[in-house]
Amino acid sequence: MQKKVVDISIVVPFYNESESVDTFFKTLIPILKHIKLSFEILCINDGSKDNTLDLLVHNKKKYSQIKIIDLSRNFGKDAALTAGIDFCDGNCLIPIDCDLQDSPDLIADMIKKWKEGFEVVLAKRIDRSQDTIFKRITAEWFYKVHNWLSDLKLPENVGDFRLMDRKVVNALKNFPERKRFMKGLFAFAGFKTAVIEYKRPKRFKGVSKWSYVKLWNYAVDGITSFSVFPLKLSIYFGLLITFLSFCKGIWIFFRVLLCGIDVPGYASQMIAMLFLGGVQLISLGIIGEYVGRIYDESKQRPIYIVRDVIK
Ligand code: UDP
Ligand code: MG
Repeated sequence: MQKKVVDISIVVPFYNESESVDTFFKTLIPILKHIKLSFEILCINDGSKDNTLDLLVHNKKKYSQIKIIDLSRNFGKDAALTAGIDFCDGNCLIPIDCDLQDSPDLIADMIKKWKEGFEVVLAKRIDRSQDTIFKRITAEWFYKVHNWLSDLKLPENVGDFRLMDRKVVNALKNFPERKRFMKGLFAFAGFKTAVIEYKRPKRFKGVSKWSYVKLWNYAVDGITSFSVFPLKLSIYFGLLITFLSFCKGIWIFFRVLLCGIDVPGYASQMIAMLFLGGVQLISLGIIGEYVGRIYDESKQRPIYIVRDVIK
């Protein structure tokens, strides 16, 4: 395989991060210099509305290793990472958040593992005490439900922060889908993987860009991207309800034979009707979710649009 021009590509998505930019580079660059391998820092400005881009350009004047990909609007973190994967030149790639929650200190350990021959090095969070209890519980349940429903098992408590060899990056470039649940795509790619553990610190500045609505949509995205089990749920529900109605039918038949006709209950009819209505609406919704995804994919729109590349 043709050797690339730099050893390490660091890919950083930025969305309204003016408070973090300067400190991020001040922390990251000495760590990278210490590793003594060539590197580039690919900054993806994901449609920031504050002066993040100006600050990136300002930092680029100080540090020549910075390259900037300016997207035309906010496309979301997964799309920004995809841009990083497409544009990076390194023999390995490390996506990292700019809020220093993905501790840059780990990079040296990742490189060590990479040199030992691992093609993917995952950074696993062993302590989420900095997250709210709600986020911790929902995250735990997301992994449980996802891994139960899908054949593809996501490693728990592993985010986008990881090292990937050029072979992995090239494989990821060949994924054609528009809706990109990167955690899933990374796991799908496979390769020889090592895990290192770390304590995830708090965001040092600014606020998380994830609202609970966004997180819910992200979780639905993850599950529908890698499992068709929800589509089958209505079959199982249908079978169960058919079986129960059949039993109830037989029971009524014999009761009428033995005790004569009685007046059927209004309440039980209403309950049965509303219950079935609910089940049908849920099933339709699940089918709708998948049809929506087929619709999105069939349009073949670009995953992101680049306004400018500043190299
Ligand atoms: N981010 C982005 N586009 C978005 C949302 C977030 O590029 O639409 C970036 C953000 O600037 C940060 C990283 O993704 O570098 C992680 O975001 P955040 O810290 O809000 O996520 P959390 O750590 O809470 O999961
Ligand atoms: Mg963060």
